[in-house]
Amino acid sequence: MRIFIVLIVGLLAAGGGAGAVRGQGSVNLPDLGSSAEAIASPQEMRRFGRQMLGSFRQAGLLFDDPLLDEYIETLGFRLVAHANRPDHHFRFFLIRDRNVNAFAAPGGYIGTYAGLVMMTESEDELAAVIAHEIAHITQHHALRGYESASKASIPIMIGMLAALVAASQAGGAQAGEAAQAAIVSGMGLMQQLQINYTRSNEYEADRIGIQTLAQAGFDPLGMADVFGRMGRQARNYGLSPPEILRTHPFESTRIAEAKARAEEAARRSERITPPDPAGQRSLDNRFELFRERMRVLLAPAGENQLARYREQVARAPDDPFQRYGLALVLARQEAWREAEELAQALLQAHPDTLAFSLLLADIEGRTGREAEALARYQALDGRHPDRAAVLAPYAELLLRKGDAGQARIAARLLRPLIDRDTDHAQLYALVGRAYELAGEPIRAAEAHALSAAYNGRFEDSMVQFERLQRRDDLDYYQRARVEARITELTPIVLEVRRRGDRGTG
Ligand SMILES: [Zn+2]
Repeated sequence: MRIFIVLIVGLLAAGGGAGAVRGQGSVNLPDLGSSAEAIASPQEMRRFGRQMLGSFRQAGLLFDDPLLDEYIETLGFRLVAHANRPDHHFRFFLIRDRNVNAFAAPGGYIGTYAGLVMMTESEDELAAVIAHEIAHITQHHALRGYESASKASIPIMIGMLAALVAASQAGGAQAGEAAQAAIVSGMGLMQQLQINYTRSNEYEADRIGIQTLAQAGFDPLGMADVFGRMGRQARNYGLSPPEILRTHPFESTRIAEAKARAEEAARRSERITPPDPAGQRSLDNRFELFRERMRVLLAPAGENQLARYREQVARAPDDPFQRYGLALVLARQEAWREAEELAQALLQAHPDTLAFSLLLADIEGRTGREAEALARYQALDGRHPDRAAVLAPYAELLLRKGDAGQARIAARLLRPLIDRDTDHAQLYALVGRAYELAGEPIRAAEAHALSAAYNGRFEDSMVQFERLQRRDDLDYYQRARVEARITELTPIVLEVRRRGDRGTG
């Protein structure tokens, strides 16, 4: 809970004008007591976590790229399987921002900044940071000291976050960047206040994190490596230390101790050798592939990365990861022919790599060869069932011509993903469109309203649910779902309105 409250503090500071960062002491938190019922349940924490993600999404801070999401979730859950509370709920996501940082929010929401990924040199280093954050959750560090945070105060925080995003976006695209900056700095502040994690919390997260790393088959030295290198880089370049070093106070003795503990962990727990990546046919779970995809998607639309990738490929012509990066950049610039040649060559060398097949299907779909692309997606769906990375672009192509028959196929394909109660707004938007074309207006309206909620447009979502509620042809279950959503959204929307009336900017 601490982080949510701290986020409120961060938002107050960010929205407070004059750049004045007010201290924690000036914030009056509602005193709602601390009886057990007042504290949010794990289910409620998850709901709030999703709403927080919705506001991040609305501010453009998430990639929402199924391949990147799958990578970070796979890595996260590989660690969780070896953590001391593998049954805890976790959601791993990436923050589209160049700051070097990571954070753990109550409910098991672990955000990793793109800037951190770009500065790590191996998967072991990235895993080390995530293992450390997982330990903050499993050891309840984030919850301690915030007993007063209650069910009632959290929707207020979500409403404030949403109001801040909305106010900052009211002025157009440039203001969108201002919203991002405000939220990032709000999170920066949140991180700064995490300094209140006691030194013993940090040592404990290191210690538990190193055990998890070793048991999951990663190099336990990764933790000392990544934090040590961050500090050296900052010193060498005369930069202020990255956010994560300020929020997770590190000193050289701590790094030395992490190293000693890692060596001990390696001796004690017989190191589990992960499946040899070079021996695997698919490159899909490779850190290098993930990092090049992220590098391309992170670059602003105007930035030309072509020269960089051409140079890299000239230097290492057989490196599939640099070639993949080049192919993605070419496709982004609509240099279809060269992009397709590269994608074909990559696929020939690595026929089981889903990312290469998806790139080829995307190029086919965008260059007037819909039938070929659809056939390719269908085959991929057979080999990788129920994967958002396949189904989202597949459904998008099926819906492109507005054909009712194809829309029914799309709805049927996406249904299992939706039934898993995902928070990926993009999937709800696709399902909504599919039902609309297939002539199922109630299901369409429900999906669109959910898409609005998961995109952080809470007011819009509530208006849509209220419109649904007024219909007289809902069945019992539909009506119950709609009413539950309205109940959830009401306190958030009231807070957004209250702040909108008062002016948040
Ligand atoms: Zn920490």
